[in-house]
Amino acid sequence: MIKVVVFDADKTLWDHYNISEFVEPLKKISEDEIEDSSGNKLKLFPNVRESLKELKRRGYILGVATWNLPEKASLVFNALELSQLFDIIISRPFPFKFLMLTEIINELRKRGVNVRRDEIMFIDDRRIHFGNVWLYLPGVKCIEMWKEMQDHIDVFKLLERSQLNDF
Ligand SMILES: [Mg+2]
Repeated sequence: MIKVVVFDADKTLWDHYNISEFVEPLKKISEDEIEDSSGNKLKLFPNVRESLKELKRRGYILGVATWNLPEKASLVFNALELSQLFDIIISRPFPFKFLMLTEIINELRKRGVNVRRDEIMFIDDRRIHFGNVWLYLPGVKCIEMWKEMQDHIDVFKLLERSQLNDF
């Protein structure tokens, strides 16, 4: 049974492809949109906030594994007021998601929460990241955003399916 859901950020949670380009200060345009000082804009995809809140309400542990400068990621997550919805945000200046997922597993263990790999779902818009996850963290369920999930609300269907072991 899945206990932890980990999301990529760029092009998975929001429409911008690289928030490391964002320049302070950031300003909020609407609840789900921000703009940086050079005119870069970012908007959350539909149902992201709602799905995250519902996942949290249902007791899932929520994480982020994003290839970005950590200071930029925390600026953006704070500006969008999403930080408090996630239990753990790992943002690193390299693309190796399997290392970030390992960090998440280790950090949860430090907090006294032991999760098995097959209790983790990882959602990313770039399938290229899955190879190393399958290799080094077998059992983690990798979901390709916009292919296996067309909308963030679809995560609930996938979680139901995984409960039935129908993957
Ligand atoms: Mg991405």
